[in-house]
Amino acid sequence: MKKVELKVVTKSLLLVVVAVGVTFTACKKVTSETLLQKNDLSLNKLGHQNSVNSLSLDSAKKVRFQLGTFSSSISNFQDSATKALSILSDVFSTKEFKDSLLTYTFVCSNGSSNSCLASKPKLHRYKCDSVLQVITGQTVYDDLTADSVVNINLQVLASSGSSPYGYTYVCSSTIYSYDWFLKNNNRALPTTQEYAVHLAHEFTHTLGYVHSSNHTAAQDLTSRIGRIVRNILTKRANLAAINGQELHTLLGQDNFKYMKIRVNDLPELSTDFMTAYNSMKSGFDSSNQTITYAYLQFIDSTNAKLGLRVVNSNNTYFVITFNHTMAIDSNGVATFAYTGVNTANATNRARVQHLIDYLTSGSFSLSFMSKSAPAATIVGGGSLLTDPASYFYGIMVDTL
Ligand SMILES: [Zn+2]
Repeated sequence: MKKVELKVVTKSLLLVVVAVGVTFTACKKVTSETLLQKNDLSLNKLGHQNSVNSLSLDSAKKVRFQLGTFSSSISNFQDSATKALSILSDVFSTKEFKDSLLTYTFVCSNGSSNSCLASKPKLHRYKCDSVLQVITGQTVYDDLTADSVVNINLQVLASSGSSPYGYTYVCSSTIYSYDWFLKNNNRALPTTQEYAVHLAHEFTHTLGYVHSSNHTAAQDLTSRIGRIVRNILTKRANLAAINGQELHTLLGQDNFKYMKIRVNDLPELSTDFMTAYNSMKSGFDSSNQTITYAYLQFIDSTNAKLGLRVVNSNNTYFVITFNHTMAIDSNGVATFAYTGVNTANATNRARVQHLIDYLTSGSFSLSFMSKSAPAATIVGGGSLLTDPASYFYGIMVDTL
């Protein structure tokens, strides 16, 4: 008699996260070879003959998710599930999604070694680049878009309120989701979009990407895919909210309360701004302090604060702010005037003078800008009226 070995993949971590507001979608993963073989058989029937599709196309590939079997503890939820898959199809098929994903590399512990992957020739069986020793964004993109049509079975399960978001298995075509976050959605996006974010995370598991105790939550690939989808959907919502309005008419409201300037994320900041910033920075460097980011907070239509988050050498941090009045005309031209320090000592006040001098050096035309910035962010900035080559910009956000 042939011995059947049931092997649980030890790297698959059981994660139970129930805190609402976590930025990733937790899931339970239990994988056994018997289950995988069952799935392998059905996949073989589809007759995938092609080798791994690694064509490097400039344009995005199109992916369409279609609903296979469906069951739900929530009545009349099938239309929402279909809608969520349609949202996911749309986002995965955008160039924005591709461009964002290709900016990432991932630690190799995100890649599973499940044997079921051998029977799915369109997928990268070995995710880790043997030379680079990372999983490239291109590898993940290839896998996510390997099939132009993906049939997916969805099950929404009743939960007591202490369950994770859901789970699936490597090589499975079924995603299980607990109903608590779909019934009582208190997150930022509408329910169908939150469901789409969750499905993006779980679908990535089915392609052979796993959680592991060998990497941190921040390094987790499946969570990153969920966040990329969330960012794109959030940006769309923001753009819908802007709806043709100009930046200066929105300052201080909703997603336009702060302009966050983390210089490493913003490579196109002008020479004039960077000269002022670096002069300020050298002062903090001299006391072994680092600046996480600078920001402008738009308090109301006439007041703004220049702020700075500073990290001490022992990793504690503090925030210092500098009050300014802000006169904005109907064309969005703003003139800032320094009115006093809020929370900084004389030494730091002197250091930040470089940036205050720049901000008050003339009138700035405020507008949305197309400048290099992290994917799916909304960028606003100000150009010096007398010299548009002198400008600053940052990410518009509602909280820092
Ligand atoms: Zn997961």
